[in-house]
Amino acid sequence: MLYTYSDTEYAPEKCFLCKGAGHAEGKTCEACGGSGNVLVAQPPRICPLCNGSGHTEIGICRACGGSGWALL
Ligand SMILES: [Zn+2]
Ligand SMILES: [Zn+2]
Repeated sequence: MLYTYSDTEYAPEKCFLCKGAGHAEGKTCEACGGSGNVLVAQPPRICPLCNGSGHTEIGICRACGGSGWALL
């Protein structure tokens, strides 16, 4: 299913922080809020800062909020 806001299409993509599970380490996933998916502008682009892992050396990737996708 696609969503369109301001002439940009968004579609749910798998959250990389929790690998689509919706939870990580016993907590609700911060990146997707527990849904396992995040809305990403189409065509989707992998976050360049964490290369899609959702993590950096200092923790959750701030550029993508941990989702692994470039959100802008
Ligand atoms: Zn998640
Ligand atoms: Zn990232």
